Formats: sequence, C-alpha cells, structure tokens
Amino acid sequence: MTTESSLRADIVEVGRRMYARGYTASNDGNISVRHGADRLIMTPKSVCKGFMTPDMMCITDLDGRKLQGDRDPSSEMLMHLEVYRQRPDVRAVVHAHPPTATGFAVAGIPLDRAVLAEVVTTLGSIPIAEYATPSTSELPEAVRKHIKAHDGMLLANHGALTAGADLFSAYYKMETIEHFAKISLVARLLGGENLIAREEVLRLQELRGTYGIKAPAPICADPPMANDSACQVIQSPAGGGFRLVSDATGSLSSPGEHRRREPGERDQEAEIRLTYRELSALIEDAIRNLR
Ligand SMILES: [Zn+2]
Repeated sequence: MTTESSLRADIVEVGRRMYARGYTASNDGNISVRHGADRLIMTPKSVCKGFMTPDMMCITDLDGRKLQGDRDPSSEMLMHLEVYRQRPDVRAVVHAHPPTATGFAVAGIPLDRAVLAEVVTTLGSIPIAEYATPSTSELPEAVRKHIKAHDGMLLANHGALTAGADLFSAYYKMETIEHFAKISLVARLLGGENLIAREEVLRLQELRGTYGIKAPAPICADPPMANDSACQVIQSPAGGGFRLVSDATGSLSSPGEHRRREPGERDQEAEIRLTYRELSALIEDAIRNLR
C-alpha cells in the first residue's frame, strides 16, 4: 500500500518510534518519502516527531517547492532533496540524532569496522559526512560525497542520516546504526573489538545477493584508493581477526596502526597479576642478582 494516506500514516508511526526510542528530542529530526514520480511527502518544521498527525505533512516537488500543506517543510529539506537527486532508487530518507551514534559523530569516529555480520551485510560501513551548518546548502554537499555508496552515514557534530527503498527500510537502518554504535561503544570500553577477517567480509558481501539485500556499492579494495567515493571502506584485517588494543586507553587507532599481535607477544600496557608468593620470589630473585 503506497497511497498518500498510508504514507502519511507511516511517517507518523516512524516519527513516534524515533521519539519513543530517544533518537530525537524536542522538534529534532525529519522524515520524507517519495510519492509517485515527482512528489515528496515530508515532515513539517518545528513539530515534535513523537506527536505528529497525518494532516501535518507537507507535499513538495523534487526541488522542494511546497505544493500542499498548512505548514512549511522541514528545515533540513535540502539534505533530503540531495539524497533523492543522487539516488533514484531511494524512496525514503530519515534523519535523527540518536545519542550513541551522534556521540561517535561528535567524536569524529566513523562506524566502519567489520564487527557485526548483519551490519556488514546490510549497511556495510557508516562513514561521517564532514561538518556543515544545518539547513544550509553546505550540508547537502557534505552528504553528496557519501550517499552514492552508503545507505547510512553519520553527520559530524550533528546526527545520522539513512535512506531506503521504502520508509521502514530507511528507519530500520537508523535503528541498526544506533544499535551498532551502542555495541561498538561497549566493546571499546571492554578493550576493543575483535574484527571480522577480510575474507569473511568478502563472503558476507556475496551473501547480500543471496538475501536480496541491495547494497549501494561494493566494499573497497584493501587498502582503499584515496577519495574513492564509489565503494565502502571497511576496516577488516586480511588473514584473521585481531584486537585493537589501543582503544582501551582512549586513543584512536587509524587503519595504518592496526596490526596483528604476534603469538606470545605481550602488550606493554597490559596488567600482570601475580600471587603474593610469586611477587616475593621475584623480589628475592632481583635482590640476589643485585648482590
Ligand atoms: Zn538534525
């Protein structure tokens, strides 16, 4: 069912879920769907997404000109228009500020590590579009760089954006991004993620076809070419998983710093636990050597 009234009702429902899950506060966030070949149904500006009614929506053309509705369209309309311009396959766009994913966006950390099979299969990697003043033409420009190869991205110091073949597909990607961000945060607090091996990532990529998941772009060659916006950069080690040890101390590791630990190699920072007896023996030994 994609009648106008059912699309309006779906937008109300997605807005309600976003607000209930804390993805938006106050009047934040916005939602749009394509209706037919040249119309968009969009949330209006300055309303709480948790308490919308179907009659509040705006109808615009693909250039954002309002055709119908008592209220003005979302202040982030330009960003939505850019997504539809770049991606004819996209029929819905969702923007919100889910707190954990937005925390990664604020910290400048993309969600691009191969950690969860379902994320690799569905979204691939989630890059960060560089900071731009909300509601200006800078924001669509920042989004343009990534939207061809990604269905979801973080917006630096702002929030997250997802796109899909229908509204619920776009919304579920927002849920996946926030869920993934929470899991990544916990894993990093616990000492860092074990990454999925490159070979497995490529297998998962092939599974996309089997499950009928349409990925916007393939995974980039490893290492990726500079500024290649036609593929997805995913951090995954060749020849087996490994742990990113540096996250435990709060420092960020860039892809170049990742390396596998050799068997038997000790982390210089790692904690060593000794019994009292072992410690005493070590001290006695050291004293004997001094003499
Ligand atoms: Zn926003």
